[in-house]
Amino acid sequence: MQVHVDRERCQGHSRCYDLAPEIFDVDDLGNAFELGDGTVPPELHDKARLAQTNCPEHAIEIRED
Ligand code: SF4
Repeated sequence: MQVHVDRERCQGHSRCYDLAPEIFDVDDLGNAFELGDGTVPPELHDKARLAQTNCPEHAIEIRED
């Protein structure tokens, strides 16, 4: 699994970071980005999906391999 934050859509609510700080971080303006290359280990897949579901801007893309 790989996640990607669409920075054009992200409005900086930080919900993804609150829910899954192992996967996301936020910059000084509160806009989110994926950590590293966005690869999510199996044990964090549920958290990634939870973050995606809770993003009010639908800014989190998930690619399932
Ligand atoms: S929850 Fe969505 S809009 Fe909010 S910081 Fe994360 S990616 Fe951006």
